[in-house]
Amino acid sequence: MFSSSVPVFLLRFLMPLFKTPAVILHTLPYGESDQIVTFYTLDFGKMKGMAKGAKRSRKRFGSRLEIASYVKVTFFEKETSNLVRLSNCDLIRPFEGLREDIRKLAWASYFIELVNEMTAEKIQNKPLFRLLVAFLTFIDRGSLKEEVLRIFEIRFLSCLGYQPQLDPCIHCQKKLTGERFFFSPVKGGVVCSACAPSLPDLIPVSLGTLKTLLLAHTLPLEKVSRISFSPQSLKESRALLSSFLQQYLGKELKSKKFLEQINGNAEFGMRNSE
Ligand SMILES: [Zn+2]
Repeated sequence: MFSSSVPVFLLRFLMPLFKTPAVILHTLPYGESDQIVTFYTLDFGKMKGMAKGAKRSRKRFGSRLEIASYVKVTFFEKETSNLVRLSNCDLIRPFEGLREDIRKLAWASYFIELVNEMTAEKIQNKPLFRLLVAFLTFIDRGSLKEEVLRIFEIRFLSCLGYQPQLDPCIHCQKKLTGERFFFSPVKGGVVCSACAPSLPDLIPVSLGTLKTLLLAHTLPLEKVSRISFSPQSLKESRALLSSFLQQYLGKELKSKKFLEQINGNAEFGMRNSE
């Protein structure tokens, strides 16, 4: 409808403007002065937009386009492009703590990359948006305990409709009894000891871990950072959630490797870091 040569300051008067809270997921330099920005919004899910002049002049967007910034974006759609045009970006919360501590940044990057990799564009998911903001806030304030990673993973999967079935047995559908259970990443749920011999690639999981994960999943968001897992539950839930996420991701995330390096070893020995 409008020529692409119409200056941006005029276009914003001609096209409907949308305003929504968003978290910046990714930025990519484009040409000499622009940036392509991927952001997760409250109202429209994941979106991609062009920020004209973002590289050349920091006046208009400044540091607000940094990864994990919590902002309010203003944009309009362009008929000639799949990308929306960002016309403004106001800071809601800077999450300064994330930029001052490389470990916090590593944790935040993991959440951000999970969201970026596992969501499609323009599908509204308000619970997922709120989950991301809540967990970035926990880390920003210093909640660096491994439980926070595991709770994010299980609630994130649930927001996407991939909630693992923790009871009854996913194979025979009988209520779980006894003490020995297994988790099937392929089937996405817990398997009883009677069904276990007939299924491949199972991960042993204790009743304590199942109860902990259920609590992690159902407790109100504002209370989840207070949950403590036993060492055994941490170990089991790490293995279980990692292989389950792998089913959907199909690849190793860069931020996960970085997270493991930052934390010194692949076993996430973070017990002493709280
Ligand atoms: Zn069974």
